[in-house]
Amino acid sequence: MEKQLDPMKDDLPLMANTSHMLVKHYTLDLDVDFKSQIIEGIIVFFFETGSRYRKTSSTDEEGCQSQFDETCKIRASEPCHIPVTDLSACSSTMEYNDFAVCGKGEKDTSDKNGNHSNGEQASGIPSSKNCCDIENHGSTDFLLVLDCCDLSVLKVEEVDVAAVADIEKFARSAKLTDASEELGNLRNQIVHELVTLPADRWKEQLYYYTRCSQAPGCGELLFTTGTWSLEIRKLGICTPRDFPHAIRIWYKTKPEGRSVTWTTDQSGRPCVYTMGSPINNRALFPCQEPPVALSTWQATVRTAARFVVLMSGENSAEPVQLQEGILSWYYYVTMPMPASTFTIAIGCWEEVKQQPFTADVQTNSDFSLPFSQADLRWHEERCGHVEYPCRFQNPAARLQTVIPYRVFAPWCLMENCKELVLQLIPQCLSAAYTTLGTHPFSRLDVLIVPSNFSSLGMASPHIIFLSQSVLPGGQHLCGARLCHEIAHAWFGLAIGARDWTEEWISEGFATYLEDIFWARAQQLSHDEVKGQQELKALLRWRRLRDEVQNSEEELQVLRPNKENTGEVSESGASVVKHGLKAEKIFLQVHYLKGYFLLRSLARAIGEASYLASLRKFVHKFHGQLVLSQDFLYMLLEDIPEQKESGLTVESIFQNWLDTSGMPKLLPDQLVLLLESLLEEKTLCPRTLQCLEKTYKLREQDAEVRHRWCELIVKHKYVPGYGDVEKFLREDQAMGVYLYGELMVNEDAKQQELAYKCFAAAQEHMDVSSAKVVAEMLF
Ligand SMILES: [Zn+2]
Repeated sequence: MEKQLDPMKDDLPLMANTSHMLVKHYTLDLDVDFKSQIIEGIIVFFFETGSRYRKTSSTDEEGCQSQFDETCKIRASEPCHIPVTDLSACSSTMEYNDFAVCGKGEKDTSDKNGNHSNGEQASGIPSSKNCCDIENHGSTDFLLVLDCCDLSVLKVEEVDVAAVADIEKFARSAKLTDASEELGNLRNQIVHELVTLPADRWKEQLYYYTRCSQAPGCGELLFTTGTWSLEIRKLGICTPRDFPHAIRIWYKTKPEGRSVTWTTDQSGRPCVYTMGSPINNRALFPCQEPPVALSTWQATVRTAARFVVLMSGENSAEPVQLQEGILSWYYYVTMPMPASTFTIAIGCWEEVKQQPFTADVQTNSDFSLPFSQADLRWHEERCGHVEYPCRFQNPAARLQTVIPYRVFAPWCLMENCKELVLQLIPQCLSAAYTTLGTHPFSRLDVLIVPSNFSSLGMASPHIIFLSQSVLPGGQHLCGARLCHEIAHAWFGLAIGARDWTEEWISEGFATYLEDIFWARAQQLSHDEVKGQQELKALLRWRRLRDEVQNSEEELQVLRPNKENTGEVSESGASVVKHGLKAEKIFLQVHYLKGYFLLRSLARAIGEASYLASLRKFVHKFHGQLVLSQDFLYMLLEDIPEQKESGLTVESIFQNWLDTSGMPKLLPDQLVLLLESLLEEKTLCPRTLQCLEKTYKLREQDAEVRHRWCELIVKHKYVPGYGDVEKFLREDQAMGVYLYGELMVNEDAKQQELAYKCFAAAQEHMDVSSAKVVAEMLF
């Protein structure tokens, strides 16, 4: 029996019991009404029995060691039962008789006593309901829990997939009898066969998903809604295996729901879009939020003809006119992804098009391919994810430098986008390709979102939202931001975080890769790249330092769940720590600390082999969910020599991921920092004093102190002259050139210092060193 989690008010609960039932596909059928600001529709779920209840053999044994279980795939040794918060946190006064049911379907053989009317009332049930365990209240019915918030659920029913013509071919092995229990088994078996069709039959699969979603109902199901969940049961059904695997829900969004924003675009016309809310899409459609619920989807959206519907979909939808003034748009994806990545935007946007007579943008197709022999070897290996039509296995897709793209913008920003965004996208896409290889997604829409969008960009499958703030002032901000969002196609989307608290995995990588892509997109020289990237590093360092000083320590930890990362309760539910904390949204600590970790690893390993490792990581883990250690173990495995220098997964956890504050700088990083500072024309004495104090420079190794002395000389920092003197006396192996620098400045005090030190050391100095120094001094 499951004990419930007890979220704090700032934590985001993920309620869905994905270990019991796991959604494989959503079919959405929505009507969008701008007048009432309501989206009304039907969603059909296709489920698999969850990992805890799947058959392991021909016997009916229950357990978590199923042979085809993506939950256990990444870390097969993971324990299945994790103790969670004590049940005493639950109210014991709850009753559990307020399931809603409305009428009986033709084949409903079960319900005789649960019979309230429906959802609108049910949605008023207090939130304390959420921390109650149904099995304590006398019912042994299995309860399907979905993540859901601010939705009016109108009706829930079982779908009679067996009524679809020709569908029996999916269930040849099942014997068709009249007994209702057998019929239920048949339906579940059909769904099972449908969701597990091989990848090359994806078109047929989509076709039957559509047909099944339109099949008649065969009995309403009991449901109740809480603040964060929708709970569904069928009387007399006690196990997930017997629970209906195809379910249809009628529902409506609420204008105040927090998954979408109803607003106007920059030209004053109405629009609505998913704004990347902390509660994700659960106020747009009921779903299974835990990332482990990787699913495909298809959606039909109807709205007034003047609107364009953009969505996370593989196809560029062509609208179909249904009736006067109403268009219907249809999108689908075949790559399973978390429901949180589903994105939709509907507005009076226009596609920004190239003038027909302008020359094609140079797409850098002459770039040499990034693949080395070793890369090719990985490509021959099979993918590690569940089956889907993967682009990494498609030879044509693997050669596609630039995927098809479109740009949409409000009318008043069209010109701006034509000159800037439209030119930059192919450059950035091809830079990404030359760095990481195969684009995980087949196409890209870029939308300039309304001005109330709260960040500069957001990446979703097949669609990037871009803030208008990146448009003015030349290419730099726009190009860098596009590169960042494009990087998320690999890190964040194709490879997702298994534990949402480890967002550094996607943000750190995207921030690191943004620089690499953008430098390539601009076709900079090696020196220009170095200069630009070091400048960026410096700016980010200052920002990180400020944030670390001004934010709660707890929020600065990149792996808040530490060794328990990725663990969920027995049912699959969990909470995302601080997931609803408003100030966290504006913190960049996760981006920046993650970026500095990746940068320091790159410097330790060398950029070329580092990027090769990233490509290997992408190849190994695309289509899957990862934890920090999956990357770190793979990387360090490839470079055994790093172990000797003390670079281990444990040391990285300790220094970077599991602690607050700034990572302690390694000596080489300190050298780098000081060298970057040496490129500055002026540094005031206070900065130098601060630097010395912060990093205890006098106690550092000779390499660090050498740079420190150079800084002292360059900026004539008199309080540091003692350090220079000491260095010249005690570190004669490294100090020779400092004499030259002391002389070059033509500063009386510095020259005097040089003479004094030389006079003191001359006698015992190595002969050739003494000769060189003497030449500098006299
Ligand atoms: Zn693949």
